[in-house]
Amino acid sequence: MKKAIPFFLACATFVSLAFVKPSVENNKQIHVVIDAGHGGSDFGARSITSSEKQIVEQVTQKIKFLNKNENVIIHFTRNDDQFVSLSNRADFINQIKPNLVISLHVNQSRNESKSGMEFYVANESLVNDESIEIANKLRTKFLQNDAVAPSEIKKAPFFILKKSVAPAVLIELGYLSNSSNRAYLTDDKQQDQIATTILSFVADLK
Ligand SMILES: [Zn+2]
Repeated sequence: MKKAIPFFLACATFVSLAFVKPSVENNKQIHVVIDAGHGGSDFGARSITSSEKQIVEQVTQKIKFLNKNENVIIHFTRNDDQFVSLSNRADFINQIKPNLVISLHVNQSRNESKSGMEFYVANESLVNDESIEIANKLRTKFLQNDAVAPSEIKKAPFFILKKSVAPAVLIELGYLSNSSNRAYLTDDKQQDQIATTILSFVADLK
């Protein structure tokens, strides 16, 4: 019975805290790391007028400014045009231990007709099942909202995906080498749509 009293008190405290607003909100909070690929001296994919590092940074900034949901806390591995090593990105992610990591990239191919979005999860990760589930849901969300056809989920040993302790998905948003994908990726309104789709997906997770 002696043990039952503190337990009862704990329950009573919990019930009373349930009516305190900030505590309830904290329970609902979801932490997401948005990892904008490349940056600084690392341009990633390039076309004459644009680059991968620039496009993913633009989308990342939009995610930052369009997020009005106070329960969605977003962390960024880079905030401007700076070089951040892959191991520093992984360390940052694993310090935060977010609910989800979304790494943003843009593709390139010698075959200019190659187009579409691609979703990747690590083929060796402790949180592989969760990552696959998230990638599938994210793909479905993009299927409903976007112009660029999303592919099936692919597996690859990308460093960030492999090292992340949290479920992680890498999105190749489209092919910079394909003219219609390039028009899509560099369009301000389409970038807004990509950011909104990601934000709406994240908000639905909890
Ligand atoms: Zn890339």
